[in-house]
Amino acid sequence: MVSARQIIKRSAFALFFIAIGFVFYFYDSDEKVAPYQSNTGNIFGTYYKITYQSNTDLHEAILARLQAFDASLSMFNDSSIISRINRNEEVTTDADFEAMFTLAEEVSGLSGGAFDITVASLVNAWGFGFKNKENVTPAMIDSLLQAVGFANVMLSEHHVYKSNPNVMLDAGAIAKGQGCDVVANLLRDNGCENFLVDIGGEVVCQGYNNKGDKWKVGIVIPTDDPTGQTNELQEVIASSNLCMATSGNYRQFYYDNGVRRSHTIDPRTGYPVNHNLLSATVIAPSCMEADAFATACMVLGATDALALINTLDSVECYLICGVDTTYTVWQSNGFGQYLQ
Ligand code: AMP
Ligand code: MG
Repeated sequence: MVSARQIIKRSAFALFFIAIGFVFYFYDSDEKVAPYQSNTGNIFGTYYKITYQSNTDLHEAILARLQAFDASLSMFNDSSIISRINRNEEVTTDADFEAMFTLAEEVSGLSGGAFDITVASLVNAWGFGFKNKENVTPAMIDSLLQAVGFANVMLSEHHVYKSNPNVMLDAGAIAKGQGCDVVANLLRDNGCENFLVDIGGEVVCQGYNNKGDKWKVGIVIPTDDPTGQTNELQEVIASSNLCMATSGNYRQFYYDNGVRRSHTIDPRTGYPVNHNLLSATVIAPSCMEADAFATACMVLGATDALALINTLDSVECYLICGVDTTYTVWQSNGFGQYLQ
């Protein structure tokens, strides 16, 4: 017969060994917390900063993916698909190009042509593109406008068809955002759950930072500054799932006989936009959508931009208007949920 005392003794022994087992398991298992990696560099004429939790440094794979993306969509890369299309060379499009083109066509339609990647020749003429600035005259603008508009291009069976050879494409309003999506997908494919991808201020974040907090992303006060060094924040958004892009006219502009010329061109008139909307920040399901709609907002101006964004599910905007340093903010109906 086993006495009660023996049962207690045996149970105590068993418990002791189970406890030892647990200590060894946690001490010696692979459950060690993975470190946060940080990769920085330059791409598309801007910086990238990518932070992610992983045991492996994925910088080489990220760079290779960004270079493949650049080889599709950079107008500053002579051998890219988009450059070759602009030179009317025979070229087969790839998945990155096709995703860009399809979204561009959709946003062009939704914005009534305010957003349009066929704006390239105008962007060039005004001195913001991949060719030297020209001495712009009204007659020249009229002539360039003949080759602007989505009705002049079509994508079919991996080929771009143009109505006339002067049509050229500019993916600059989508590429940074799409680049963030592309890197975020690479990180997900490599098992990363916690990351923040920042390419020139466009952001995709997911999960938590190395302190276990939500990522914090800022909306910058739009101060005139071609150097891009002024980064005072207007708002901070804390999120563990966000795609956000900002467009503005406070970094890329010049004065021409007292008239301010910015890099956002209105394809409907041929002229750089000149209104009091200084920056447009957009949150959307993907960063390429956020980037495209942010540029569309800058063309439309605050009233029309707000009207457009309020018709779209899951797309929100934060618009900063101003003269000198007096700012007013316009938010779409659902933006408030993102502000702390
Ligand atoms: P973002 O900084 O995303 O607003 O992109 C600005 C860039 O988009 C410019 O530098 C041009 O290359 C291009 N762009 C300018 N105007 C337009 C437009 N109306 N539609 C599409 N792209 C444009
Ligand atoms: Mg954009």
